[in-house]
Amino acid sequence: QAHLDRIAAVDDRVHAFLHVSADALANAKRIDERRAAGESLGELAGVPVAVKDVLCTIDMPTTAGSKILEGWVPPYDATPVAKLRAAGLIPLGKTNMDEFAMGSSTEHSAYGPTRNPWDLDRIPGGSGGGSAAAVSAFEAPLALGSDTGGSIRQPASVTGSVGVKPTYGGVSRYGAIALASSLDQVGPVSRTVLDSALLHDVIGGHDPRDSTSLNEQWPSFAAAARAGAAAESLKGLRVGVIKQLDSPGFQAGVSQRFHEALQLLTDFGAEIVEVDAPHLEYAVEAYYLILPAEASSNLAKFDSVRFGLRVTPEGGGTVEDVMAATREAGFGDEVKRRIILGTYALSAGYYDAYYGSAQKVRTLIQRDFAAAFEKADVLVSPSAPTTAFKLGEKLEDPMAMYLNDVTTIPANLAGIPGMGLPMGLAPEDGLPTGFQIMAPARGDARLYEVGATLE
Ligand code: GLN
Repeated sequence: QAHLDRIAAVDDRVHAFLHVSADALANAKRIDERRAAGESLGELAGVPVAVKDVLCTIDMPTTAGSKILEGWVPPYDATPVAKLRAAGLIPLGKTNMDEFAMGSSTEHSAYGPTRNPWDLDRIPGGSGGGSAAAVSAFEAPLALGSDTGGSIRQPASVTGSVGVKPTYGGVSRYGAIALASSLDQVGPVSRTVLDSALLHDVIGGHDPRDSTSLNEQWPSFAAAARAGAAAESLKGLRVGVIKQLDSPGFQAGVSQRFHEALQLLTDFGAEIVEVDAPHLEYAVEAYYLILPAEASSNLAKFDSVRFGLRVTPEGGGTVEDVMAATREAGFGDEVKRRIILGTYALSAGYYDAYYGSAQKVRTLIQRDFAAAFEKADVLVSPSAPTTAFKLGEKLEDPMAMYLNDVTTIPANLAGIPGMGLPMGLAPEDGLPTGFQIMAPARGDARLYEVGATLE
């Protein structure tokens, strides 16, 4: 009830939610009854959680921020959502996002932007700005996001929250509306490292319904976070600072807080080593070919027949006319831009030059990371190059918007886990900055240990 009250009080200004569950309170009461009947429930039973609108929910509309799916209620729950319910968490509602998770500001939502609770004239990051804003405005204690190129970590950074992109394959993507299938991961957003760990424990693990799901016995991330919180030193931990992400042209206050965090790590006994990852210079370029290529293919299913919107041209028309009219009306500009980029990059004659080259760069980046992890146990960087920018500031300049992802994209290309956590406020504008920790694939527990020590 407290969270529903808070949503009622602030969400007309923040606009973190696209839909608030009508059943949340009844579901919470049911958990109370089960607990009163003596059932032993998990640590998070009864805790409300906001769900990014990219995840299918059987009892709430799922739009992925797009008009083409307006009002669509899926016939099943995404696996991470099903796991939440099984653990007794209470889905509170669906959070706003850039359309089909394309963007870094939530301004590309077809339902209007979300605003940053720290300053309502600024963006909450994207694409998962709704989840991060909900957590940071105390509308929800926990949220789920999805991170294809930073959509959990960058919103966490600019709203002073914690967000984790798990190892690729660590959390099931079944029922997560796909953006770029080789990059997408579902993960937690919260206000503390331990909260993310607890949520990650609930949603993680093998799912036979997702062919990319890792069949892995994961350690308890909550135990890792608790061990970190109790630790008095990080002695012997080798922390790699990636030369290419050590604040080249970043906002001064972001660099300053980053170097202070490095000092803190040193004070804790960690050893700072500089690592070189020369191909990171091409990460944004490679990503913005691979992502549109995969997205153009994934979005082909929105064909006016199977889901959501159908627009029939005046006077009727062929199946193709209906399909074209539907996609014309249903997709926003950024989605169309990426479909065009992707189909171009994949077309015969250009495939090797664009998509093929981008895949080669991706391999080189993976090798850079493999070499870096020989020298360091974790790698660190700022989570984002700047604090929250103003609404409208980058909307007309897609390149500026894309370049904002420079710090987060590499982890997705490499499939490794990354955590963003608060790094203090930038002195020049008083807005949150974020510290990013990356670990080798399957090393997610390390993030929680180090994150909780630093926190
Ligand atoms: N900003 C990135 C993009 O626009 C991130 C997307 C994401 O992680 N879903 O592609």
